[in-house]
Amino acid sequence: ATKETADIGLIGLAVMGENLVLNMASHGFTVAVFNRTTSKVDDFLAGRAKGQPIVGTHSVKELVASLKKPRKIMMMVKAGSPVDQVIDELVPLLEPGDILIDGGNSHYPDSTRRTRALKEKGIRFIGTGVSGGEEGALKGPSIMPGGDPEAWPFVKPIFQAIAAKVADGTPCCDWVGPEGAGHFVKMVHNGIEYGDMQLICEAYDVMRTMLGLEPHAMHDVFQRWNKGPLDSYLIEITADILGYKDPETGKPMIDLILDTAGQKGTGKWTVISACDLGVPLTLIAEAVFARTLSAQKDERVAASKVLKSRTPAFTGNLQSMVDDLEKALYASKIISYAQGFSLMHAMAEESKWEINNGAVALMWRGGCIIRSAFLGKIKEAFDKAPHLANLLLDPYFRDEVTRAEESWRRVCAAAITHGIPLPAMTSALSYFDGYRSERLPANLLQAQRDYFGAHTYERVDGPRGKFFHTNWTGRG
Ligand code: NAP
Repeated sequence: ATKETADIGLIGLAVMGENLVLNMASHGFTVAVFNRTTSKVDDFLAGRAKGQPIVGTHSVKELVASLKKPRKIMMMVKAGSPVDQVIDELVPLLEPGDILIDGGNSHYPDSTRRTRALKEKGIRFIGTGVSGGEEGALKGPSIMPGGDPEAWPFVKPIFQAIAAKVADGTPCCDWVGPEGAGHFVKMVHNGIEYGDMQLICEAYDVMRTMLGLEPHAMHDVFQRWNKGPLDSYLIEITADILGYKDPETGKPMIDLILDTAGQKGTGKWTVISACDLGVPLTLIAEAVFARTLSAQKDERVAASKVLKSRTPAFTGNLQSMVDDLEKALYASKIISYAQGFSLMHAMAEESKWEINNGAVALMWRGGCIIRSAFLGKIKEAFDKAPHLANLLLDPYFRDEVTRAEESWRRVCAAAITHGIPLPAMTSALSYFDGYRSERLPANLLQAQRDYFGAHTYERVDGPRGKFFHTNWTGRG
């Protein structure tokens, strides 16, 4: 490779890496590439990279030598120990001021650790979320970078050029915050993705199981919903999926797919961090557990033969239930985002990361899996009130939820009556009712804790912070 000519280097030519390289090259950047299995470099250069400003290299040493200084190297390798292995290989070849970027789905504490460790060696580290899958990587992903802020000015022109753009041309990429902030925000994005997907699945289940709609009819419903407030990538692909027929059997493809969901763990991480930070992230937690319940297929099949329930057939108005469902889905989605943004707010406070919620909403507005028109409204809410404690307190979202409330309750009540599990939608409604409760039954909980464990309680008529204990049994 020619010496010191490439704008950026990329390691890891799998699905994401290859497409990001092509995206960078199409924006005029010269990209040097390396992959552990070097035949992939040759295949790429002879295939998709042909005629592009892409430089193939066969060792990390050769890659490093081909880069302009300060060097910028992006890793798109499997998350976990492979990232540390590649970093260890690179560090001896780098100079102070060089920039290392991890664009994989790393867990944010790892990015915090790497930022600090590399800083000590004079290397500026960026841990960045990249969302949008294969197509996003090629045509414009959502990019959520965090880490060493000194690195950002050097990387910004490349990242903002290749990122997705919203209608006015603003890129879906901005600086998120220090240390693991970028990967943290990407993790929450994935958690919200779990929630959105589960909510859509529940709406589908109500239509299929309770209302008896066929896939083609549901395809029409989702297409219609995609023109309203639910307008989003996930609703759009759901309409496509429901309209797709298996070429071999001619049957709706959706009916041929086994109902056991997999997961890679980012939803679980999101819920764990919510538990650590004391944030009620109920909807995403239910979405994670819904996947785990789905995975217990054999047990469910056996249980379905034992736990028979005599739920009545639906006799209400089908069309009005479908209309209610749209509003229930929308209200639940607002709850999920309210919870997700509260989690980011809590993390920003705890770690002093100063995550800009409005900027995050904009980064998610396009390019990524959860992209939607709705995120534009969230951005507006945080632009008006950057420190808004909860999205539900924003006047626009408050009014939207209030408008949907009756429909939402009707859907949850009907589903419960008819035995349709709606863990995400019903937990969203419970959260709404809990959040707007001046008094919860936790007074009894405190009494119980004090009774058996002398954990003490505060009194409604006493000053906050003053704790009392009662000898409940009169025994000594
Ligand atoms: P991947 O399957 O996660 O990783 C494969 C790549 O990692 C290959 O280039 C492989 O090299 C390399 N690799 C694995 N272990 C290595 C090691 N010890 N040393 C050096 N290289 C190693 O690829 P991907 O699906 O393109 O994803 C890349 C990253 O982006 C992951 O962190 C993933 O979670 C994240 N991500 C993926 C998507 C998606 O839609 N796929 C979306 C967003 C983010 P060899 O060819 O030599 O095996």
